[in-house]
Amino acid sequence: MKYLAILFVFVALTACQQSENQDTGTQDDKQIKFEYIAHACFRLHSPEGKQIIIDPYGSQIWLSYNFPKDLETDAVLITHPHYDHDGGQSRGQAFPWSEEMQVLRDPGEYAIGDFSIQGVKGKHADPYGKEFGQINTIWVIEIAGLRIAHIGDNGPISNEAIETIGKVDIIMLPIDGVYHILKEVEIQAIFAALEPKVIIPMHYQIPELELSAETPKNLGPIDPWLKGKNNVLRLENNEHNFARKTLPEQAQVMVFKHSPLVTRADQ
Ligand SMILES: [Zn+2]
Repeated sequence: MKYLAILFVFVALTACQQSENQDTGTQDDKQIKFEYIAHACFRLHSPEGKQIIIDPYGSQIWLSYNFPKDLETDAVLITHPHYDHDGGQSRGQAFPWSEEMQVLRDPGEYAIGDFSIQGVKGKHADPYGKEFGQINTIWVIEIAGLRIAHIGDNGPISNEAIETIGKVDIIMLPIDGVYHILKEVEIQAIFAALEPKVIIPMHYQIPELELSAETPKNLGPIDPWLKGKNNVLRLENNEHNFARKTLPEQAQVMVFKHSPLVTRADQ
């Protein structure tokens, strides 16, 4: 009888534990798919099937490669009006979305399906972007219980912006071997302030897509920066699913391959 009672308590406790896991599990299990296109451009796919594209580049301006044709999306988010972030629109290039497309550029709060999006006022890294007042909108996206930031070509992030952004789980930020946008000390300051668990470098030279080792001008590959860094994961392809429950405990640098849809200028 005594054993039966113990067994009963054990079964009851296990059942209780399981239902707790299920309650929190629904949110923690939700997945957000990241698809890296190239340069600073990503497409995010929500659990409800909505899509957003962040910072599409203009084909063959500065970069040697093309933006993929007919990429589907529900909205386009642009950090700043530079040809390598705005589909080439500021250079008069035919941009790769329809006239009806919802295009977000300015600080404010937005919703695209299950994506909650906040644009935070930032400032483009010096000395670039003076022709448009160095505006740069940092995008903070909440989806699947995760906080995600794409900082465009922001320089050091101001204390005011850091307070608005808060902590993030995943960050996409410009890093390359010649420190074209952010200096190492500025990169480390951003990590210390926002405490991301997943760090996704972007905006570096992609040698296999460039026509020469000297292009694009003043932009280095990512490899020199990765040397000596802890916890680096190089993905085999350009897609990865993230969920709150599988976030790494220690900050991890995750390097995506570019999209197979991207073609080089001479192909
Ligand atoms: Zn840029």
